[in-house]
Amino acid sequence: MELWIPGPVPVSEAVRQAYGVEPPSHLAPDFKAAFSRSLQAMRRVWLAGDDHQPFVVAGTGTLAMETTAVNLVDPGDRVLVVNLGLFGDRMAEMLARRGARVFQIGPAPGADLDLAEVERALDEHAPTVLFATHVDTSTGARVDVQGLCALAQARGVLTAFDGVCATGAERTEQQAWGADVVFTASQKAIGLPAGLALWVCSPAAMARRRALKSPPPLVLDWLSWLPIMVAYEAEQNSYFGTPPTTLIPALDVALADLLDEGMEAVFARHAQVGAYVRERFVAAGIRPVAQTPANTLTAGYLPEGVDGPAALGALKERGFVLAGGLHPLLKQTTFRLGHMGTVIRDRSRVERVVDAVIEVMGR
Ligand code: PMP
Repeated sequence: MELWIPGPVPVSEAVRQAYGVEPPSHLAPDFKAAFSRSLQAMRRVWLAGDDHQPFVVAGTGTLAMETTAVNLVDPGDRVLVVNLGLFGDRMAEMLARRGARVFQIGPAPGADLDLAEVERALDEHAPTVLFATHVDTSTGARVDVQGLCALAQARGVLTAFDGVCATGAERTEQQAWGADVVFTASQKAIGLPAGLALWVCSPAAMARRRALKSPPPLVLDWLSWLPIMVAYEAEQNSYFGTPPTTLIPALDVALADLLDEGMEAVFARHAQVGAYVRERFVAAGIRPVAQTPANTLTAGYLPEGVDGPAALGALKERGFVLAGGLHPLLKQTTFRLGHMGTVIRDRSRVERVVDAVIEVMGR
């Protein structure tokens, strides 16, 4: 059975070998070296600066969202959430629980975000931080991260991006674009099993944390983890919470693999595969939900007369696992095909799954 959902994604043989071992000690020299290389590689995968701080902590993408929310915002702060779907709703809820005054804007599911509207919202609400989802996994829509950064920077507003379905696949230039926090999780384009929350902070984001009046919960506090990251990067002993000692050596392998390919080539590979999938789908009468679609997944409307669960069942019989609709308004009418990570290096595998989808639900 082949997994073609928008995460978790299939992992490479090298990654599987890296985590399929006896767990090493968190103080073992090889482990510290792998941790150090991983942190350094993250700056290059994120296209961040030498003065940016990467973090690797056991957890999910949702943990990465929460730690970002509570380290950038004090209770009472005004924040703007550019909400594209399910994960925007989740971020807004986290910020509300932190006690922030949350303002939200966003288009109808799948529609384009109007940057002029964002500009007006920034001017009207004067937030301290803008939060946005780079690729919304419930609609397959992608936002213009660079454009959002430019608008926020011009007003001295910090930016934080949920890159869970984007980082390591969609072009992200953290330093050049001026994104202050970009986070993801290990089970998506990075190409590991679930279990790691990964994020990179700009110096301005770290400064905001230091200036908070109300410290975050200890385990979510960037300042709890900062000395650990600094120590591991220098291959020194340190301890706050036990790191996942099999996943981090696998992260080292996965990130080195991306950097060997080169980030330009990684972005191009995903863009080419995304365009190929959409072109085939459209020709077969399967309309993508998103006006500006992501290259990591395609959410498509089920053609008229096609029953979603039956179609996914028929695909399973052919050996392909796809995902159903996720957005509350699109649950019954859409399906989702994930196409990110090392699995799409083999174009014939992409062709086979697309052929199967079209056979089952195309016209
Ligand atoms: N943000 C986005 C855009 C996601 O796609 C997901 C997971 N699908 C999350 C956040 C949450 O990640 P996790 O399931 O690892 O908590």
